[in-house]
Amino acid sequence: MTVLRLLPVILSALFLSAHFLRIGHLGPMAVSLAAPLLLLLKRRWSLTVLQILLLAGALIWIDTTVEFVKTRIAFEQPWARLAIILGTVAIFTLLSAYILRSKKNQRLYNRLEEYANPSAGAFIFTGILLAVVQFKVGLPLLLLERFIPGLGWFEIFLLSTYAAVITEKMLDPSKTPVWRRRIWLLFSAVFFAQLILGLAGFEKFLMTGKLHLPIPAMIIAGPLYRGEGLFMPILFVSTVLLVGPAWCSHLCYIGAWDSAASGGRKKPKKLPHWRTPVRIIITIIVIATAIVLRLVGVSSVIATILGLAFGLVGVAVMLLWSRKTGSMTHCVVFCPIGLLADWLGKINPFRIKINDNCTDCGICRLSCRYDALNLSDIKRRKPAVTCTLCGDCLHSCEDGFIEYSFPGLKARTARTVFIVMIVSLHAACMGLARI
Ligand code: SF4
Ligand code: SF4
Repeated sequence: MTVLRLLPVILSALFLSAHFLRIGHLGPMAVSLAAPLLLLLKRRWSLTVLQILLLAGALIWIDTTVEFVKTRIAFEQPWARLAIILGTVAIFTLLSAYILRSKKNQRLYNRLEEYANPSAGAFIFTGILLAVVQFKVGLPLLLLERFIPGLGWFEIFLLSTYAAVITEKMLDPSKTPVWRRRIWLLFSAVFFAQLILGLAGFEKFLMTGKLHLPIPAMIIAGPLYRGEGLFMPILFVSTVLLVGPAWCSHLCYIGAWDSAASGGRKKPKKLPHWRTPVRIIITIIVIATAIVLRLVGVSSVIATILGLAFGLVGVAVMLLWSRKTGSMTHCVVFCPIGLLADWLGKINPFRIKINDNCTDCGICRLSCRYDALNLSDIKRRKPAVTCTLCGDCLHSCEDGFIEYSFPGLKARTARTVFIVMIVSLHAACMGLARI
């Protein structure tokens, strides 16, 4: 019965895929064929997403009808029958979208209903981010597009679906810390697997073939030394504008390593008070070295060796210090980009706040690996500047006194919006980030 009720949806998808196949658009054809499979997830958001795709499909039929009719009129050929057939298909597609709204369907697809809108939002936001790249950037950036031109659209569909599913997982407060670490580590693994494949001779896995060191400090030092290569700084600043310092808790390919290193110890230790001056000094040294190397005309081989040495010291910091303290010392003390993310991130209005009902029990301190919730911070009712909006502390306060905040939004909404944005950026980075 369910299949019969959903038959119009399946038929509409098949008509659309046949249309795209006829005009040679492989990506949209694959999306049309795969879209009804979303129904297998039994989620409310999948109904919303399918409705949007079917509405887009109906618009495509209307546009196609108008174009065909214009051509026939121009060649003085009969067009009425064609217009009726294509118009009927457009109306059928529209009705299929409407059927998904039926009460019966809404009842059937009710799992995790409370997360339906955010998940649909993550699907749409991820799709828009990647569609802009697919349309605007001349170089094919998505992996499937590199292997089979046109299939980038199918990859966008897959990544958007991934974003919707992960949003659902991340919105459950008890699961957020675990899922944040999982997806962060997954991103880092995908990033470095592509680098290894690229170095092994599969060039499609590299961005352009112009290699640079996968060390966050190079985001700033690289362009200062080379005098070019602003892609990574622009990407970094864009994420900071959208989600503040959350680059350092969700998006950085190296930060995931520090998170794994520190995670071995159950309770993080407080870091020494000199951590901030040391971090500032390291940042100044990195910036000054890059500028001096450029002015003196030092060869790129020596610059690369210096960069590599800096990266290896960072790994040693993770292995020796982060593992021992359970705090992310590499990110909080050593990495210059972490400092910039913390400072620049304050431009963005997302914050973590401790409300006035807090009893100063200090339990939340044990969930913060960024050394941002010491007792003095708790008493001030706001985390230290090293807070990366990771959200781990929210669940640790059983009374819910720690919240996300954003001007004009209630705490719950602020958290939802934040998660939709960060998961969408994460999914987009999965598709785009490579060396
Ligand atoms: S501090 Fe540096 S290594 Fe750590 S997450 Fe931020 S940019 Fe990455
Ligand atoms: S204060 Fe909370 S949100 Fe901020 S870094 Fe620490 S655990 Fe994460």
